[in-house]
Amino acid sequence: MRVTDDRYSRDWRRLELAVRMIRHEARTGTIRLWTGLSDDRIRKLYRTYVQSVAVTPVRRHRGKTPSQTSFFLRNREMRRHGALLAGIYSRLGLLDRDAAGHPLLPGRPAMQWGGLVLSAYEAYLELCPDVCISFEHACHLLDALWAETELGLAACRSCAALTLVDRLRVGSAGCTFCSSQRTSRPLASPGSERMQ
Ligand SMILES: [Zn+2]
Repeated sequence: MRVTDDRYSRDWRRLELAVRMIRHEARTGTIRLWTGLSDDRIRKLYRTYVQSVAVTPVRRHRGKTPSQTSFFLRNREMRRHGALLAGIYSRLGLLDRDAAGHPLLPGRPAMQWGGLVLSAYEAYLELCPDVCISFEHACHLLDALWAETELGLAACRSCAALTLVDRLRVGSAGCTFCSSQRTSRPLASPGSERMQ
């Protein structure tokens, strides 16, 4: 009886995770990878969700998953959104590392941490109605931050806010707010700057 209960509970969590992913227009491949459900099961789930639950249109995305980290650094707005989402990841423990500096979660089944990623993405949607990071890009951001080869998260040198940094560039800029202050500040005569 106990085994049946555990299996039922696991299946339920799997389906719940898949439906949340469908709601955020995750690709079938990502849903399969995270939940272990077959493509056929995902298709049926998608049809059921769209026909009986969805109140807004849900698109199915095909093609390659995002793989360009430059997406998050291409302008100030994207860096701001990326830093916000990365900060939520950090807050929820998704970027935690072991004593040797290796990320804790990537080697574990996504069923253990997938719900947290969805919660982070949903928090981002709440905070940023002008959303410009899709769920698939949000997953890519997490992968990039785990890898820490091209993209990193660091405290701004001026205000200590978390900011995305380009690890391939020496002397990456501060947070988007401080960078915009620097570029919009009028030229001042020596000694005229006031402390902020
Ligand atoms: Zn700053």
